[in-house]
Amino acid sequence: MLKLNGISVKYGSYTAIQQVNIEVEKGDIVVLLGSNGAGKSTTFRTISGLNKPFEGEIEFEGQSIKGRSPDRIVQSGVVQCAEGRKLFSDMSVQENLRMGAYVHRRKKEQIKQSIEHVYELFPILKDKRNDAAGSLSGGQQQMLAIGRALMSKPKLMLLDEPSVGLAPLIVEQMFEVIQQINKEGTTILLAEQNANAALKIANKGYVFENGSIVVKGSSDELFANEEVRKAYIGA
Ligand code: ATP
Repeated sequence: MLKLNGISVKYGSYTAIQQVNIEVEKGDIVVLLGSNGAGKSTTFRTISGLNKPFEGEIEFEGQSIKGRSPDRIVQSGVVQCAEGRKLFSDMSVQENLRMGAYVHRRKKEQIKQSIEHVYELFPILKDKRNDAAGSLSGGQQQMLAIGRALMSKPKLMLLDEPSVGLAPLIVEQMFEVIQQINKEGTTILLAEQNANAALKIANKGYVFENGSIVVKGSSDELFANEEVRKAYIGA
């Protein structure tokens, strides 16, 4: 479904990622592991069309998306749920969800159905539907960010550290919902520091170090890999 082939990106003269190869099959949950600054966000920004690679190729569903504008990439079915969340904080929960549907000209009834679907996944958002997004807790804002991304009916969702800063119980719920979204047909590419939780739901993963992929494998292989355990699982 998604193929990154030898992708390298620079910020000025600084090479942030180098010769990155990633393959995501339809239906997968794939995780990118790596410490802060290893290159995960740059990879996401490049897939979303926000960073331009100076070499390599990106294909989505067999077509090159390199050089496409971010809007067109969303229209192709790839949506990023940002780490910084970037909600409209003065707007209500429900208004934020509506904004997520803007890329496709969808009928009112379809938008309503999608909103109801988000409320089924995250009942707390229904309770708070008239509250300003900025008044929500960190976990609720993260749920809203995921809900808003779902409103565009993505084929592939990019999730950058959805568990960062959340209480353990909320993290657990978050991963359950990610799994649910995947079961309903959305392919997931996930960047995480929480390797333990992420590898439990992922089928495979890639480990970034200093802008390059240093290890890749199935979740079981990564879980069994001593270096990965030492660096990211801590057992
Ligand atoms: P984090 O979890 O902190 O976002 P990351 O693995 O996603 O980490 P990136 O954000 O992709 O890593 O950063 C990769 C490298 O590029 C880092 O060395 C970072 O300092 C650098 N970098 C990121 N954004 C910029 C920018 N806008 N200008 C210059 N350098 C940048």
